[in-house]
Amino acid sequence: MIGTDVQHAANLLKAGQLVAIPTETVYGLAANAFDDTAVQAIYKAKGRPQFNPLIIHTNGLHRIEEWGMQVPEKALALANAFSPGPISFVIPKSNQISDLVTAGHEYVAVRIPNHPLCLDLLSRLDFPLAAPSANKSGCISPTTAQHVADQFGEEIPYILEGGPCTIGLESSIVSFANKQIQLLRLGGLAKEKIEAVLNCKLSIEHIQNNENPLSPGLLSRHYAPTTPLYLESSVSPTSLGEPTKIACIRFQQYHPAIPKENQFILSEMGSLDEAAQHLFMAMRLADAGNFNCILAEVFPPHGLGLAINDRLKRAAVAS
Ligand code: AMP
Ligand code: MG
Repeated sequence: MIGTDVQHAANLLKAGQLVAIPTETVYGLAANAFDDTAVQAIYKAKGRPQFNPLIIHTNGLHRIEEWGMQVPEKALALANAFSPGPISFVIPKSNQISDLVTAGHEYVAVRIPNHPLCLDLLSRLDFPLAAPSANKSGCISPTTAQHVADQFGEEIPYILEGGPCTIGLESSIVSFANKQIQLLRLGGLAKEKIEAVLNCKLSIEHIQNNENPLSPGLLSRHYAPTTPLYLESSVSPTSLGEPTKIACIRFQQYHPAIPKENQFILSEMGSLDEAAQHLFMAMRLADAGNFNCILAEVFPPHGLGLAINDRLKRAAVAS
């Protein structure tokens, strides 16, 4: 069921149930992070491999400290600049956090989401919520409550309706494990903004090369529509057959060789933030449109363009 009853959502979570929650990045599939059985239900509902750890969510840094976790100084600087917001921090975990949440690691990813309904919900709970994106493992992340309902139906007791996600990409993840600072995932907060606060450059080579042992869930093909997706940089449209059967995902302008009605323009005004917000919706619509394939533009490699390209590459068929 979809609804806006925050107290009902809180009651279900307190009773160990799953609830889909709105955040500014994507919708999450949430459970009590202190409850093994509830956390196990997330993995089962998603079909998520057990080695892929979950991010925990709460409404303020003070609570993370109350639960016995020390936030490293540089993480604090980032949190002061950007939390609540689309950034997760990987920090040493406390015993209360289920080993299932961290897939046995000594570090846990934490985030304070910037969504009024979600913050209200979190403030009513005396535990953090473990919440991966509310999609079946490997599929496109949901940016509306209806996307969650389409995939899970009655499998989850409640979907808290919070409107369309305003960021539309998963959080950026910064790890402070082993006294090193490492960007583990490009996401809804631009890399340049993180670097400006940390006053250092962050490498993304290990992300681009899919060598990310600290974040096992980021290795695989992911975010994938069922229709084969190709990047414009790796194929020419003539090799893809009949143009009327090709969908396009583009930044600002139509592809000259494909019918306009097949094309999804992510931001006419050329805003990468707006493009990010529309990306997953466009992937879903293109997937549902009975096309033979999807051809996606490579976006400018700065700001959220880096994260958009990351998602498109993981969605693309190997070429
Ligand atoms: P999702 O919530 O589905 O967007 O996925 C969360 C991502 O965060 C996964 O790909 C994980 O690999 C990563 N992650 C979560 N917890 C940790 C952690 N403790 N250490 C490293 N990466 C993590
Ligand atoms: Mg996910």
